[in-house]
Amino acid sequence: MSIETAVTEIRGKLVTTGESVLIELEGGRIAKISPSSHQEPDNDELWIAPGLIDLQINGYAGYDVNLSDSSMEERIETIRLMVDKVLASGVTSFCPTIITAGYEQINDTLTALRLACERYTVVDETIVGIHMEGPYLSDQDGPRGAHPKEHIRDPEWTEFTNWQHASGGRIRVVTIAPERSGALAMIRELAREGILVCIGHTAATHEEIAAAVDAGARMSTHLGNAAHLQLPRHPNYIWSQLSEDRLSASIIADGHHLHPSVVKVIARVKHDRLVLVSDAVHLAGMKAGIYKTHVGGEVELLPSGRLQMAANPLMLAGAAVSLSECVQCFMRFTGAELSEAVRMATLKPAQLLGEQQIGAIEAGYWADLILLAWDKREGSISIRSVIKRGKQVHNIQ
Ligand SMILES: [Zn+2]
Repeated sequence: MSIETAVTEIRGKLVTTGESVLIELEGGRIAKISPSSHQEPDNDELWIAPGLIDLQINGYAGYDVNLSDSSMEERIETIRLMVDKVLASGVTSFCPTIITAGYEQINDTLTALRLACERYTVVDETIVGIHMEGPYLSDQDGPRGAHPKEHIRDPEWTEFTNWQHASGGRIRVVTIAPERSGALAMIRELAREGILVCIGHTAATHEEIAAAVDAGARMSTHLGNAAHLQLPRHPNYIWSQLSEDRLSASIIADGHHLHPSVVKVIARVKHDRLVLVSDAVHLAGMKAGIYKTHVGGEVELLPSGRLQMAANPLMLAGAAVSLSECVQCFMRFTGAELSEAVRMATLKPAQLLGEQQIGAIEAGYWADLILLAWDKREGSISIRSVIKRGKQVHNIQ
């Protein structure tokens, strides 16, 4: 249930240190953190973590960022309703993600996001930026993933600036295939504007990846996915991005997009330069069952969160779990502590965006917090309460 009550203080154990604390909130921010003298049975005490930050969400709970054939009002309402559901999942900041489409369609989606932000404060506060994943990607089958080939194209600065204008300057993450004509110049411009440039949906050579990083690319988008079914043993674009120490990587650790062994290897190689993203599509957070989609025909969502084509169960039809579930999978696959897994979904994305008011629990930061129960033996976490800028937006007793 969505409720909005102001919270003045919360108690619990800090995910970062395990210390029991009292956090006082004021004006939507963290005012003071002090050791808690409150005596509660240890098992009942909840953990306090920063609200999760997801750099890549295409949709959630039935609501789709990239709507087509819809009026502007429908798009705006869809974004508002989606933001409520995303908040309830424990994600207090996220980047709605634009997929490859024609110029007008992308323009309309960006306009809807801007208008939703201008109309609703909570939407504006929760959408920390927009991730433009397409259309400047590889058009090869495999690397392009589900991005429609007919709309994939070379980067064009004027086109991008028009879109940035439509969004009200909210595009803060751009994924690009560096092998496309004009990509390096585009990467340099984007980096100069302070935009997080990511390499992704790419078939680039080792040299092209190095050149992209020289030009200012700082992250790999969902490393290990959107790739050919077969690759040369070496070099290839996965090794090249893994070995590039200047590149952070985002991964979809949902248990379906990457084998647990791959998640573990990427975690060991990238250490602190790793970010968890959900890449959730609109069916994420829905009940298991068969659904009709406007692009891919019938898809089946399994209770495990695997979303597959109904006619071809071997083919994934997108990611369908929330970021908190990715945090759990990451702990299971890598042996990471809760503090480390949470950092990959809070502080790390905040740092990559250059955000200094979210992603950590410190005096002066926004009071974007989640309270969670952690069953260490089961490796499961459940979110009990979500606080966005000092207001409780979700609560489960
Ligand atoms: Zn993608």
